[in-house]
Formats: sequence, structure tokens, C-alpha cells
Amino acid sequence: MTTQRSHDSPEPGGTPLGFRQKLKRSFATAATLAALTVSYIGLSAMSNNPGGGSVQAAGADLGDARIVYRPVRNEKLKPLRGILMRSRLYETVATDINQTISLPRDINIEFLECGSEDAYYDGRSIGLCYELIQRYVDRFGGESASLEEAALHAGLFSLFHEMGHALIDQWQLPVTGREEDAVDEFAAIMLLEANQGAAALSGARQFAADAQDWDPLPFWDDHGLDMQRFYNVSCYVYGSDPRGWSNLVGDTWLPQERAENCPSDYGQKSYAWRKLLKPYMKRKMELSLPTESQLSGPLSRSPAAGRSQR
Ligand SMILES: [Zn+2]
Repeated sequence: MTTQRSHDSPEPGGTPLGFRQKLKRSFATAATLAALTVSYIGLSAMSNNPGGGSVQAAGADLGDARIVYRPVRNEKLKPLRGILMRSRLYETVATDINQTISLPRDINIEFLECGSEDAYYDGRSIGLCYELIQRYVDRFGGESASLEEAALHAGLFSLFHEMGHALIDQWQLPVTGREEDAVDEFAAIMLLEANQGAAALSGARQFAADAQDWDPLPFWDDHGLDMQRFYNVSCYVYGSDPRGWSNLVGDTWLPQERAENCPSDYGQKSYAWRKLLKPYMKRKMELSLPTESQLSGPLSRSPAAGRSQR
């Protein structure tokens, strides 16, 4: 199903992904940029202007990411909503994001029932569909200490992917190459910088699962093919710490031919994102996720839970 594939559709369960996302994005006018510069409150940095001279990048921290749980009607999704709300794990993630990255305005991160397995950024808010989280909980949940942890890992990569879209849009960040690739890089790099390599790898494995379960994307789509995204994210994980992730290299995960370039690939991408985000970063990315002992014990799972892709 096309809508399952988008991770970006502007209206949950609505129109299939195409180019509408970029068309809807508003790009700052000179007046907007001037206003942002006036409201600059000390977090910006001087950056080079390719046209000559230097300009003061706007880095005013005027907004926060906020978690919102929309109600659900589907009985199968109600337990997941309860787990997410009670655990407050995503509130912790939002707090970490707010302490790390300046935002020009508030942005809701909304969990909602979409009618499809999807996630999106629509120019105002990030949507994470309960259906998508539930799918990954069912697929990989058996490997986690608890359903809370499974639910957290199931949505983290998608959350940071969509946050990447939001930052590009809200801070007018330049992008060369495909934006979908750039925000996969952003998600992987943020998670890896926060020492959450397992969460980044969860994102990679979700792409492999998507490749297995869903119809292939058309070549004209603005997303890479799922298996390409799997290998790219796996490459960044390995490249961030080749010794620590040496077990990824091999025929079953990351071929040696690709692995050889991953350290420099990761270095290049993380350098690019660090440089782009410098005016907006208040500290290094940190995620104060709970340890296993802080999570509640294993809960009953459906028989389908825990099947892993590889
Ligand atoms: Zn996207």
C-alpha cells in the first residue's frame, strides 16, 4: 500500500506521498528572517555567507516539542496508547530534544490513529501513527525488556526522521541531495551521538522489515528503496564505532565492500549535520532513556511478537 510507505503523508491515511510535502512548506521571506534576527537571544553563531561577508544565523529558542496523544477508536490500538501515556518515555525524549535543539516555534509530536502505518511532518506538527508503532512492537517487541521499551524503540527513529524534516523546514536548512536521505542521516546521527546505537539499528531493521512486508516503492519515489535505507543506516551505525559494531560486518548484514567506506561516510555526514545545526544546538545530543531496571517487567505479548527480520 502506497500510503504505508510514505512516512511523510501530510494527512494521515489521506493522499499518497508525492511532492505535496515540499509544496506545502513555506520558505522564509526576507522579512521573516529579519524578524528572527531581531529576536535573536544569544544562541546563534556567525556563519559564512557564500555570497560574501557573514550573516548572523537566527537561532532563537522560541518553541518546544510537545507530546500529544490523540484518542483512538480501534480497540487493538488502545493498549498501546495506554502504554505510551503511562510510561512518559516520549515526554523524556521531547525534554531532551528541547534541551538540545532550539526551535523557532512550538511543534507537536502527535501520536494518532491514522488508518495506515505511517509517520509524517506536515509543516506544523509531527504525526506518529499508532498503527506504525504497533506494527514494529509486534515485529520486534519480543527482543525488548518490556513493552514500554519496545514501544519506545519502535518510534524513536521515525520521530527523529520527522524531526529532521521539521528542522529543515523551520530553520530553512540547505539540503543538497535527497531530503529523505538527509533526514535518515539526521536520525541516525542524533541517536548515535546520544549513544543510542541500538535505537538507530532498530530503525535500520524496520526498513528491512518494510522491504520484506510491503510492495517495493516505485523508482520515482522521493524515498530510497527500503533495503537501501537499511544499508545506509546500518553503515552509519557501523561507521560511528567500527570496533564496537564489528559484528555487523559480513554477508548477513553489512557487506565488507560497503563497510570499508562507512567510517568516512559517517564522518562526512555527521560533520555536515553538526555544521548545519551549530547555530541551533544548545548542547550535544543526549537521550536520558531508562535502563532496563527502570522499566516495568515483561508484559504478555501476542504470539506474533518477537519475530525478527534478521
Ligand atoms: Zn521523510
